[in-house]
Amino acid sequence: MARRLSILGSTGSVGRSTLDVVAGHVDRLVVAALAAGRNIPLLEAQARRWRPELIVAARDADRSRLEPLAAELGAALACGDEGLVAAATLPGADTVVSALPGGAGMVPTMAAVEQGRRVALANKESLVMAGELLLAAARRTGAEIIPLDSEHSALEQCLRGRRPEEVRRLVLTASGGPFRGFHRRQLEQVTPGEALAHPTWAMGPKISIDSATLVNKGLELIEACRLFDMPPERVEVVVHPQSLVHALVTFVDGASLAQFAPPDMKLPIRRALSFPETWGPPFDPPLDLQRCGPITFEPVDHGTFPSITLARQALAAGGTAPAAYSAANEAAVAAFLEGRIAFPRIWGLITAVLERQNIVPADSLEVVQAAADEARRRVAALTEGVAER
Ligand code: MG
Repeated sequence: MARRLSILGSTGSVGRSTLDVVAGHVDRLVVAALAAGRNIPLLEAQARRWRPELIVAARDADRSRLEPLAAELGAALACGDEGLVAAATLPGADTVVSALPGGAGMVPTMAAVEQGRRVALANKESLVMAGELLLAAARRTGAEIIPLDSEHSALEQCLRGRRPEEVRRLVLTASGGPFRGFHRRQLEQVTPGEALAHPTWAMGPKISIDSATLVNKGLELIEACRLFDMPPERVEVVVHPQSLVHALVTFVDGASLAQFAPPDMKLPIRRALSFPETWGPPFDPPLDLQRCGPITFEPVDHGTFPSITLARQALAAGGTAPAAYSAANEAAVAAFLEGRIAFPRIWGLITAVLERQNIVPADSLEVVQAAADEARRRVAALTEGVAER
């Protein structure tokens, strides 16, 4: 039986790679819904090729443009937040690829979990912001949350068949991003263009900036604690500039398993879609140890790049603090991309929000959403020179 996919974020980097994977497995993967944000020309081209039963544009303003195409293809059309939820809960889809960028992915991801869908999760923010709620809903409905993030896909592979009591620690690798080795003074001068130029991964703007600040690794640390039920002190991060080892697991006997793969998102995407099976053929030549050059590891410079320390603080504070961390970062990244703040100010804003946020238990999506709104408002106030209340 073919798996029927609803792809949230189909025109983004993960969405496009997902469709590349589908193209190689048309007997086993079918596109049931395509949902996209602003890239309507690409959404149209994808709809023509894949003929989904549902087309979704995240903005209501794009409805009239898409109506003729939907009619021509005999597809349903939905727009806005309701459209995203419709795609996440489409009765004709069994697997939801959750690849919207940022906090926008949270509500549709929860909707998919509530319906018991299998969720291939690229949108780490939803797990960071509302992790306890998502996992509780998944336990209730039987929904499977399969990691699509390369590091967490790697951890799943290393942990498969192991009992929790065998595991001593998880290690996430970080490429270090384009500013690895930079000092604070150099970082004051970097431009959005330089921050977007990632050395090993091709990704969308938000996650590229998150990789440059290492906030991406802070989010992934929280994601790993949630997915694998690990206390934060047993999850470590190490810089590995070649991005060939994606994660390691150390067991109680002192042995470690590492997962090696080329830095190509199609691999973890296909693993999430084929889970628990392994499908071939390889997308890239398999690792050639005689040609891949030195494989190195080094410590994270936490003094210059405080993102992971801040993520640990947010996890320790618990409740809505991880949501505040994620939302403050998202707003700060937008301000940096618009040229309104210097690069290191992203950390200053996250710090300011975590210090001032009123942290409460994250016991509903509304509470999480309100915490995220509060964090965004505070960043707006701090970056627009408006006096804070
Ligand atoms: Mg990752």
